[in-house]
Amino acid sequence: MNFEPTEEQQLIVKTAREFAMGTLAPRAAERDLQGWFPASELRQLGQLGLLGVNVPDELGGAQAGAVAYSLSLTEIAAADASVAVAMAVTNMVAELIVAFGSDEQKRTYVPMLCSGEAVCGAFALSEPQSGSDAAGMRTIATETQDGYRIDGSKLWITSGDRARVLIVWARTDGGAGLRAGGKAASGISAFIVPGDTPGLSAGKPEHKLGLHGSTTVPLTFDGCVVPTSALLGRVGDGFKLAMAALDGGRIGIASQAVGVARAALSAATTYAKERKQFGQALANFQAIQNMLADAATQLDAARLLTLRAAYLKQEGQPYSAKAAMAKLYASEMAGRVCDMALQVHGGYGYTHEFPVERYLRDARVQRIYEGTSEIQRIVIARSLLKEFVDHV
Ligand SMILES: Cc1cc2nc3c(=O)[nH]c(=O)nc-3n(C[C@H](O)[C@H](O)[C@H](O)COP(=O)(O)OP(=O)(O)OC[C@H]3O[C@@H](n4cnc5c(N)ncnc54)[C@H](O)[C@@H]3O)c2cc1C
Repeated sequence: MNFEPTEEQQLIVKTAREFAMGTLAPRAAERDLQGWFPASELRQLGQLGLLGVNVPDELGGAQAGAVAYSLSLTEIAAADASVAVAMAVTNMVAELIVAFGSDEQKRTYVPMLCSGEAVCGAFALSEPQSGSDAAGMRTIATETQDGYRIDGSKLWITSGDRARVLIVWARTDGGAGLRAGGKAASGISAFIVPGDTPGLSAGKPEHKLGLHGSTTVPLTFDGCVVPTSALLGRVGDGFKLAMAALDGGRIGIASQAVGVARAALSAATTYAKERKQFGQALANFQAIQNMLADAATQLDAARLLTLRAAYLKQEGQPYSAKAAMAKLYASEMAGRVCDMALQVHGGYGYTHEFPVERYLRDARVQRIYEGTSEIQRIVIARSLLKEFVDHV
């Protein structure tokens, strides 16, 4: 067992860290306060190869693997979680097209996602009535002479108003699967929809607790016609594609959580050494040391779970339950560690003067998107119970 990153992984981490610390970190607070979308930062990520880290080089990616992707996303998240989420969704969309797209789809969309020409990608699965229960979606794609006509609405779509390439899930069974209950998932297909397609419109961005530099929007599809060639994978396979993408996506959320928590622990450690009370540095108090020690231990555990899931993915081994474990543990760890960091800062931590309140706000959603903590537990338990049954 080797815990050392390879030379290639070290190089991509160095590239990501230099960009994160040199370009992203200095203006992260400003982006958060002003709710400013990082368009130019995303373009630069594209130039650095960070929008297609695990994408083949002939399609414009860095072809550096899932571990390098996880490590580089952690670096970006440590500086600005809003940029990290747009980076993560773009990588996820590019990887999904690489895995399931036709040659033409790959050639058309993947290079523009990796270079940043598409600004970013978006993943349009959730709807007002269906979040955790994604198979309950109501958006319909009706086959027509020209292809498919999509009607319905999506909610909470990250970068949905900025992305030039969206993957959109819709029912191609006319709603029959919904009426038949258990068949709901099999009636869903996935489509690649360019952001400027007539009939697709984005609503006002949500006002959120955190991730203010990331837009989260509702989308409306009103007679949005796409050609048959927009179908990603086979008719009826959409739900499987979504679940496959989310398995990888969960490694991305875990990597983000590790990055934000690492930044919070670093801020808390620095502050504890500088701030004096009762004539000595906070770091001398055992109560503060305990908080830092617990945070460092949990952060390391999350990092190892995340890297294990990324490694399994990279090696082509089953990783669904391990990715769910990494996402569950890392996102809950990030909540605890960011809260601890704020506590170490006392009253200052509750103000914009220090970044820890932003870390805490940004980390909160990691327990919600790409499957809530409760859904991760369901995925883990299902796998555990299946394994148990398989071995008796
Ligand atoms: C900032 C942000 C960005 C997002 N970006 C995207 C995006 O880019 N694309 C996209 O498609 N979606 C996106 N989402 C949506 C996100 O994935 C959903 O919010 C999430 O899946 C939960 O769905 P819901 O909000 O409808 O909650 P619900 O599914 O209504 O769940 C509410 C509560 O009930 C619990 N619950 C639900 N079912 C069960 C069950 N069977 N057992 C136990 N507990 C259960 C949940 O865990 C949760 O605590 C985003 C959300 C946010 C907040």
